[in-house]
Amino acid sequence: MKRDDWDAFKIILYLILFLLFGIIIICCKSNHRKYIMTVDGPVVPSEMGYTLEHEHVLVDFIGADSTGYFRWDRDEVIEKALPFVLAAKERGVKTFIECTPAYLVRDPHLLKELSERTGMLFLTNTGYYGAHDNAYIPRSFYSIDANELARPYLEPGAPNSTGWYADRIIELKNRGLLHKVLISHDSGWYDPAKPGGGTFNGFTDIFDSLIPELKSRGMTDSDIDQIIVRNPAEAFKIKIHRL
Ligand SMILES: [Zn+2]
Repeated sequence: MKRDDWDAFKIILYLILFLLFGIIIICCKSNHRKYIMTVDGPVVPSEMGYTLEHEHVLVDFIGADSTGYFRWDRDEVIEKALPFVLAAKERGVKTFIECTPAYLVRDPHLLKELSERTGMLFLTNTGYYGAHDNAYIPRSFYSIDANELARPYLEPGAPNSTGWYADRIIELKNRGLLHKVLISHDSGWYDPAKPGGGTFNGFTDIFDSLIPELKSRGMTDSDIDQIIVRNPAEAFKIKIHRL
């Protein structure tokens, strides 16, 4: 082979190797791309922003045999829930994970409309609610007076108070476990069995009470971002493994 031919051959060989490398990189990338599945389709995890990962717009306790889309008027539910969802948006929330499972009842059409009305991302639930006949309530609770049962929850520093949650989160930070923490309200709850859906609980306590409490105890903006932005994006991303 002449020297010119050899040089040309080398250039072609390098080009082929370069193309091959490119194809391998593109294939690997598309196989392992991670995404979040919203009611409007997939988005990349970095689009999630502030995320509430356990809330309920609608919950129907009538039972799997009796419930159905006929039980509520979507417009009425939206009219009731929308101001509360927008109040969360005003506090920076971009992604709302609605955890109501099927038969309790999940309505992705409702969430899609809320998504369109608010410009926020909505995720729904693919699971089922396994508790039947109060199987997970201790028998001892039935013999305790209702006021007695409620007392521990009403005292300062008791479970479910802002201070109690702040204590737990700061303890987890001190143990280097902040990257494992997810927080949400488990709030909302339009109930079709009650007039006008009953009392609707908002989605803003985390922003109005808990975060100021955590900051007053020395947590940084980066700590807060870890809990409400980076952890949900990590927890809810889906990775496709093609065989
Ligand atoms: Zn819940």
